[in-house]
Amino acid sequence: MTESAPQTLQRPLQRRAIALVSGGLDSMLAVKVMQEQGIHVEGVNFFTGFCVEGHTHAIRKKDKDKNKRNNALWVAEQLGIKLHIVDISEEYKDVVLNPKHGYGANLNPCLDCKIFMVNKATLMLNKARELAGEKGFDFIITGEVVGQRPKSQRKETMPIISRESGADDRLLRPLSAKNLPETLPEREGWVDRSQLHDFSGRNRKPQMALAKRFGLDDFAQPAGGCCFLTDESYSRKLADLWQARNERRYELDDIMLLKVGRHIRPAPHYKLIISREEGENRFLEGYRYQFTSITTSSCPGPLALIDGKLESDHELRQAAAIVARYSKGRTDDEVVVEVRDPSGVVRQLPVRPATPDQVSPEWMV
Ligand code: SF4
Repeated sequence: MTESAPQTLQRPLQRRAIALVSGGLDSMLAVKVMQEQGIHVEGVNFFTGFCVEGHTHAIRKKDKDKNKRNNALWVAEQLGIKLHIVDISEEYKDVVLNPKHGYGANLNPCLDCKIFMVNKATLMLNKARELAGEKGFDFIITGEVVGQRPKSQRKETMPIISRESGADDRLLRPLSAKNLPETLPEREGWVDRSQLHDFSGRNRKPQMALAKRFGLDDFAQPAGGCCFLTDESYSRKLADLWQARNERRYELDDIMLLKVGRHIRPAPHYKLIISREEGENRFLEGYRYQFTSITTSSCPGPLALIDGKLESDHELRQAAAIVARYSKGRTDDEVVVEVRDPSGVVRQLPVRPATPDQVSPEWMV
């Protein structure tokens, strides 16, 4: 009997992809499509400070029944993938302040944002390849769909994202791949192009059908965008902030506070941020060491922060009267408010609550 040569089992190398995971259905499906083809996928979620998820729902009592899960984490768990959450809020400022490709309908710099995020993922991919060689990552996937968003997801902008991010043909959009030129993973045979999709436009039926095929019936509603910058009223508040400061800049606290309360600007040099309910009250309390605050002490009422500087006693009384107007004592002749400076020094002030016509609609930011 002749001995046969020892056989070495050559298993094909499992290819690895980084997925941009927003928490919505599209990125979830893109990952699923890749997993179906045997690709190892890990997710990355970028924290910009403008993310809608969790934050406001967690603060507001009226939203207490809404889901407070972090959708990106939840999606990762459903898909069984590792998720890297990366805080890019500092570097992201430049994207918001100076978008090379301009803004969308509001202050949303979607195209620059996508380029920036894919670029960050590309850097991660390069780093991982450098450190881990074949255990690094081979390509990047996103849930982008041609024609779904007016600015960032048009057929003409897709190559811009690939090119300007530096990802080039290592960027694959599994949901729209058949509408786009072949990418490296397809050419190399790591993924089978014939099993990718050709979704396009705003119609979400194909995504729904695919979700059904994958047995996915619980996912975040995609409408409303992934961040506050697409929100008209939020963008207005951000523009007002820049105007009041005479310069376009912001800190993380600024953009967090824009998500909370009623913003009223009686004069260019100051605005009031007045809580609308208990949850916001508690949230704003955390800022009492940074801002002068006003609250009513003779009756239940909101907490208000003064963003800016009051220039006279008249202005202080005006601000106090406005705060009193939003308290339970709004129809009383007099309400006592407590004015507290950031060092904790408190002063009581009796005021007559402002009447509706004393709070100009133009002051509402
Ligand atoms: S909605 Fe916000 S997070 Fe999403 S692409 Fe536009 S700017 Fe970026």
